[in-house]
Amino acid sequence: MDRLRFLQSLALIPLAGAAMNLRHLHKVTEPFEATDKMPVLFLGHGSPMNAIQDTEFSRGWRTIGQSLPRPNAIICISAHWETKGTYVTAMEKPKTIHDFGGFPQELFDVQYPAPGSPAIAQQTKETITSTEVGLDQQWGLDHGTWSVVKHLYPKADVPVIQLSLDYTKGPQYHFELAKELASLRKKGVLIIGSGNIVHNLGIIDWQNQDRGFDWAIEANTTMKSLITKGDYAPLINYTTMGKAFQLSIPTPEHYLPMLYTLGLKDDKDALTIFNDKTIMGSIAMTSLMIG
Ligand code: ZN
Repeated sequence: MDRLRFLQSLALIPLAGAAMNLRHLHKVTEPFEATDKMPVLFLGHGSPMNAIQDTEFSRGWRTIGQSLPRPNAIICISAHWETKGTYVTAMEKPKTIHDFGGFPQELFDVQYPAPGSPAIAQQTKETITSTEVGLDQQWGLDHGTWSVVKHLYPKADVPVIQLSLDYTKGPQYHFELAKELASLRKKGVLIIGSGNIVHNLGIIDWQNQDRGFDWAIEANTTMKSLITKGDYAPLINYTTMGKAFQLSIPTPEHYLPMLYTLGLKDDKDALTIFNDKTIMGSIAMTSLMIG
């Protein structure tokens, strides 16, 4: 090697290193290329037994799953992860959390070993600017997530992260926060809210598996009508909507994931309502696909 080439080769080493670092940085903040806009789902999850049973609801989730473009990753806002402040799960391998009691061992034996995505967690943190988003290493996938996502992607081969619900904030806050996630839809990210729009466990009617109480049917019907019309203010201000809504939403955590879905809907998005049914007196399984 002559002297000039030798000097050139030396000079190239730090340059090559810098290029690699830039590529690495690019990968962390922009893990995916632009895609067509992904749909958004709200899934009424109901009993965790839907995870292992062939029910009309689990069939509904499977059918929807088969109709979707394959996502690069999933962000799930589950009713079952409430925190002070907002967090995303950021571990490589989220554990399957069995956050319930009184169910058969078969349900506790379920594992949903979908990978996490530290890169999407980081991108979600950067995408949300109205509040600080913490990167969580402790949580995992709770049953609000895996009991439904398991039916959408049975092979557990799509990375899944969760976004927590800040229990110190009201419904308007959650609706607005959702809008900040909109750009991720064009990165192939499937955003799922998982809860139940009517959810009152304290007064469940175990004798009446197949039907809701009159007030549950009334609230479900009113909610669907407001969702279809795009009239979101009464849905956000649900505490002013009278007795049927009060009974349907005794605590907000199962309802708020639905508001995330609405916050992500734009004028061009279609709306599909499925699994539209009230059961066990005080639960609505009603689910939405936006887009
Ligand atoms: Zn639940």
